[in-house]
Amino acid sequence: MAIPKNFDYQYIESKWLTAWNPDMYRFRGDGIKERFIIDTPPPYPTGNFHLGNALNWCYIDFIARYKRMKGFDVKFPQGWDCHGLPTEVKVETTFNITKNQIPRTEFRGLCESLTRENIALMKGTMQRLAFSIDWSQEFVTMEKAYYVKTQKSFVQMYHNDLIYRSEHPVNWCPRCETAIAFAEVNYDSRSTILYYLIFEGSDLGSVEIATTRPELLGACVAVAVNPSDERYVNLIGRKVRTPLYNEEVDVIGDEAVDPTFGTGAVMICTFGDKQDVRWWKKHNLPLKKVIGKDGRVIDKRYYGVTIGEAKGRVIGDLLDDKLVQKQERIEQSVGFHDRCKTPIEILSESQWFVKINKDAILARAAEVEWIPSFAFHRLKNWTESVEWDWCISRQRVFATPIPVWYCDGCGQVMVAEERWLPLDPTEEAPRRPCECGSSSFTPEYDVLDTWMDSSISALNAAGWPDAKYKRQFPTQLRPQGHDIIRTWAFYSILRSDALAGSKPWERVIVNGMVLGEDNQKMSKSLGNIIAPESVIERYGTDAVRQWAAIGGSVGSDVPYNTKDLTASSRFLTKLWNVFRFATLHLTEGEQPVTYGLQNPSEIWLIYNLIDLVESVTASMDRFAFDEALKEIRSFVWNTLADHYVEAVKGRLYERDVYCVAALHLALDTIVKLLAPFCPFFSEELFSHINPGAESVHLHPWPALSLRPQDVAVPEPTATSGVVQQITVAASQAEAQEARRIGELVKEIIASVRRYKSEQRIALNARVEGVFVYVNCDMSYGAPDISNALNADIEYKRGRPDIQERVTEIRPNLGSLGPRFKSDAKRIGELIKSTPIKEIANQIGEGSVTIYGHVFAQTDFIVKKEPFAEGAAVDVIELSEGTVLVKRT
Ligand SMILES: [Zn+2]
Ligand SMILES: [Zn+2]
Repeated sequence: MAIPKNFDYQYIESKWLTAWNPDMYRFRGDGIKERFIIDTPPPYPTGNFHLGNALNWCYIDFIARYKRMKGFDVKFPQGWDCHGLPTEVKVETTFNITKNQIPRTEFRGLCESLTRENIALMKGTMQRLAFSIDWSQEFVTMEKAYYVKTQKSFVQMYHNDLIYRSEHPVNWCPRCETAIAFAEVNYDSRSTILYYLIFEGSDLGSVEIATTRPELLGACVAVAVNPSDERYVNLIGRKVRTPLYNEEVDVIGDEAVDPTFGTGAVMICTFGDKQDVRWWKKHNLPLKKVIGKDGRVIDKRYYGVTIGEAKGRVIGDLLDDKLVQKQERIEQSVGFHDRCKTPIEILSESQWFVKINKDAILARAAEVEWIPSFAFHRLKNWTESVEWDWCISRQRVFATPIPVWYCDGCGQVMVAEERWLPLDPTEEAPRRPCECGSSSFTPEYDVLDTWMDSSISALNAAGWPDAKYKRQFPTQLRPQGHDIIRTWAFYSILRSDALAGSKPWERVIVNGMVLGEDNQKMSKSLGNIIAPESVIERYGTDAVRQWAAIGGSVGSDVPYNTKDLTASSRFLTKLWNVFRFATLHLTEGEQPVTYGLQNPSEIWLIYNLIDLVESVTASMDRFAFDEALKEIRSFVWNTLADHYVEAVKGRLYERDVYCVAALHLALDTIVKLLAPFCPFFSEELFSHINPGAESVHLHPWPALSLRPQDVAVPEPTATSGVVQQITVAASQAEAQEARRIGELVKEIIASVRRYKSEQRIALNARVEGVFVYVNCDMSYGAPDISNALNADIEYKRGRPDIQERVTEIRPNLGSLGPRFKSDAKRIGELIKSTPIKEIANQIGEGSVTIYGHVFAQTDFIVKKEPFAEGAAVDVIELSEGTVLVKRT
């Protein structure tokens, strides 16, 4: 077995990427093993799989690999959430066109080929990161095979009265010229000007209002005041006239008006903001549209100009007519389209909506386990804040078509039958005439919100809409980022409840964000983005994966830092070196051995290994990947490398079978525990430890037990799996005693080595005169200790008899100086020339007399040293025992 000197990750990665059979990760779905279905996020194909994605997918892959080793039938699918604006915008800018300048199919084709290129790029990065994805389960939302499901879900929800079409105010992006959902609006504050304008009254005088949006004067449908505001109470029910437009509007009272804002009187427009919509609905106000879908004004006065231009012109006209009383700079919260950062408008348009049943969503969400739990509260807060139904129609092209036509004869809606799907109504006519007899239809040109595609991913993973999906639903796990709780998590719960009457998953695990080295969220504008490829090149995939695991608990933000990456590579190098050293002595096909009292170091190692397996398993079950990896690393550095291998070096050279077998067991176990984190490294080591065996990723997760002679073999149960029994030729009490001796062996070696290094003695230098006082029989532990320490050790029972002896007495000039002034130096010499014994004998009595001079105790600096075994000694205390080393 020739093991290369250095751990060459580049060679090893490319070797296994070629050698691994992708079938290893295939989901069987035959019910033989317990299923574990992961509702993997389908990323948007930007072409760039960034470090934030890498963190999320590392978590998924740790879980998938761990669960497979634990005996589950794991489904780790991978999808691509293709549709949407960013790709359309990219195509528009690349080809310098707008979506309306070329035929829809041609535009869609350009979007599709760009998406395919981007998917290929991202897939390459994912493969290099060794994600154990079952690529036979890949889904691409822009392909018919997937969007037929989106369309079916639309039709089913339409027939169940959960989808409807209506004219209603919607959030509208004037740049993208499409309706958007609330979840796509980000609110941010910006500085703006508050204008004070007079609305003249026909009889009782005028009212001054304050507004930040004078360009909406033409859409003003009422003025509102607070009914408890005495300044205006007489005006309620009267009429006033808008400036410039000179149109009459009602003054109404509403408790939601803040009397302290501006003048305490506000104009209600259709629509300046969400509050306008609330008032408009509540008071049944008329609708006046001044902004068109393209963001240009449609009223007569300023027809055709943009909203921004209109604002300037309205203010200019108001100032010219001296209608502005006052201007005031204020901070205001404004909604922006999350994709393009354009300020949104609220327009009343005919759109398709999904009904939002908040109670049903909250009830389903409460059935799911949320890790960490703050994610549930975020979903709950969002759900409670939702005011309108979900607007699902978009006035775009690259998206799932809405399978609907409108009858030209009677105007009735014709929704496609499920068996006609998939289809694009702009390319296909209905397969039957309308109820009115007409066969002439106008297709629906609107398309679906992309969240309509991705919010059925859990159903899709379970096999929906095939009836057999029910056996696999809900899925076991949804991993996702906390930034899409209000979208992907929210919509998925809604859809699962609507289509399957169930929660979509048993558990959600939410990952944090990756921060740049400056601890800021990674973003292009801050220039702190790091591409995963560059990190892989430099440190190797297994180091990147360790960084993801160790950077923090699941849910916390993880900074990119080279310290963790360097520590990760150093760990692998260390383990490689331990392994290389050990394999020089490992023999192939060892016989099983039975450990006995003569093997305290081995029994100690095995007990520690059993503890390690238990705690790593518990950490993995809690998704505490950072803790699991720290435990493994600590075992390798401290227990295995620093102690065990050092202690047994001598026996290893002699190919002691107990030692070889224990080391084999330890390495085999560590490599399996490490397999979810470091798939390449683990595979490489495993192939050397177990030549000819199948991949480590197909092996069961380690389960060890040490069985003393007086412990009965437990009957294997269905769930216990295969437990590797290590037999001990001793009773349980004796095995525990051997472990205790093994612990002492470790402590003695560690403390004397530390002593040597403190004393600047070479670690391999021989030391004489070491006495160990312990209350047990060390005869079996002694050889390892002597070997590791190169020391001649005498073992004794009980406590050592240690006495303190004075070894040096010096004059204390600090005390003598002030008393004897210029004589102090002479007195000091006198003390130095006096035999130590003479002073030491008097010192306990309180005063010392030398040549007639009387000195106090404080006149001397006394140095004492422990004495035992007839010599000055250094004393090292152990947890249960003492080590003495004779001074030389
Ligand atoms: Zn936009
Ligand atoms: Zn009709």
